[in-house]
Amino acid sequence: MDLSRRDLLKVVGSTGLAMATLGFDAKKVKAATADFKLKGAKEYTSICTFCSCGCSMLCHVKDGKLINLEGDPDSIINEGALCSKGVSMSVIPNSDQRVKTPLYRAPGSDKWQPISWEQAISKVAGKIKQTRDKHWVDAEVIDGKEYKANRTDAIAFMGGAQNPNEECYLMSKMMRLIGTDYVEHQARL
Ligand code: SF4
Repeated sequence: MDLSRRDLLKVVGSTGLAMATLGFDAKKVKAATADFKLKGAKEYTSICTFCSCGCSMLCHVKDGKLINLEGDPDSIINEGALCSKGVSMSVIPNSDQRVKTPLYRAPGSDKWQPISWEQAISKVAGKIKQTRDKHWVDAEVIDGKEYKANRTDAIAFMGGAQNPNEECYLMSKMMRLIGTDYVEHQARL
């Protein structure tokens, strides 16, 4: 059967009219379908990891799998909406390509090997300490006068839109203790 676009719209329109006449409430049907789909799922809130807007998400998890992801209507940032990148995040948690443990590539090696979080944290902490010690600026001479500096210019820190205020406070404090002035945030880029 040949059906033009105009004919198709007529058929769809008249079907909708017929359903409405018979007492179908499309909104109720949609809500019931959504309830059924999310039955038994646990709801979590999360934040989109893609850009600095930090849109909030509602995530529904069932049997250890993400089964639904949508914009959080309570968020003052995105008010329930997500852009195409945010929506595509729904495929990441269940992907078999997702990296779930830290990976380490030894010097000279062409292979990545999984390591524990303890090992990864210890390696990163060791590198930070090594870099800090090697590039520590004890004092600076300006116009012939020596000033105490107590800082390193070799370490910088970049925060992300996913960090809440509390994390930002702790990170900022940690960077001051480490002695770097270079603290930036993704949202300013
Ligand atoms: S949903 Fe889109 S706009 Fe919002 S944080 Fe993610 S990438 Fe950015």
